[in-house]
Amino acid sequence: MSKLINPQETIKVIQSNDFKFQKRFGQNFLIDESVLSNIITSSDITKEDCVLEIGPGIGTMTQALAEAAGHVIAVEIDANLIPILHETLKDYSNVTIIHSDVLKLDLNELIKTYNNGKPIKVVANLPYYITTPIIMGLFESSAPLYSITVMVQKEVADRMQSGPGTKDYGALSLAVQYYSDPVIVQLVPPNCFIPRPNVGSAVIRLSRHSVPPVNVENDLWMFKLIKAAFGQRRKTLLNSLFSGAAVPKDATLTALQHMNLSETIRGEALSLDQFALLSDLLIDHCTD
Ligand code: SAM
Repeated sequence: MSKLINPQETIKVIQSNDFKFQKRFGQNFLIDESVLSNIITSSDITKEDCVLEIGPGIGTMTQALAEAAGHVIAVEIDANLIPILHETLKDYSNVTIIHSDVLKLDLNELIKTYNNGKPIKVVANLPYYITTPIIMGLFESSAPLYSITVMVQKEVADRMQSGPGTKDYGALSLAVQYYSDPVIVQLVPPNCFIPRPNVGSAVIRLSRHSVPPVNVENDLWMFKLIKAAFGQRRKTLLNSLFSGAAVPKDATLTALQHMNLSETIRGEALSLDQFALLSDLLIDHCTD
């Protein structure tokens, strides 16, 4: 089977299989060889690695991953792509194709089955409509992961890297930075895909922290406060924690005074360290 990473081969596979792109699955197939090779290099894959690819499409990146890794698990939601993948990947004995919605998979079970529970690497050109649930699901599952190297919408990559006080800063920035060290590897223009997306893209690598950068008594409680704080960005922290996490206003006020912060401060001004401290100070109001 020839390499798919060019427009001609991609179009050939699509036409010969009479494949119809499904917008609802965020299908934009990569056709640029230098971007693909950059993804493979920056994900630092060796023959020792088991890689999870989310959304293999017609198998373009899967071919390159199969050559670099020990084993590749490719999870694809679109039933029409499964027979195509069996054809394009037939020369690779180290690829397992799974027809499933990645959000419904038990990742810990998958890793136990295919990698004896040892950490894996995730590499993907993600479907943009579910980037955040996929990334958060990977982290919150506590599944053993070394790193996540993914193509995402450029705007989302910016949000993952942003710090307090910037317009891109939010719950996603804090979650990604709590669990990992994000680095944008490359910006990718729309003409590197078929069909072209309406937005710019970026490859971002999230290397998982072995130990989180802040100490917090209950991280789920901290994330509940963070979600409440950014749920209504224009409200003060005092009001958003009251309406979004049922924290009494006098308790938030006492905590803010303890932290030398103004009572009119908004969530977007707080760093991860400050959210961790705030969450510990308000731990008595944790209801979960
Ligand atoms: N990896 C291919 C490439 O780079 O050319 C395709 C990338 S395309 C942006 C996203 C892929 O994810 C599509 O193949 C789509 O069908 C698949 N997909 C969308 N939602 C999914 C889900 N919930 N679970 C698994 N795959 C999904």
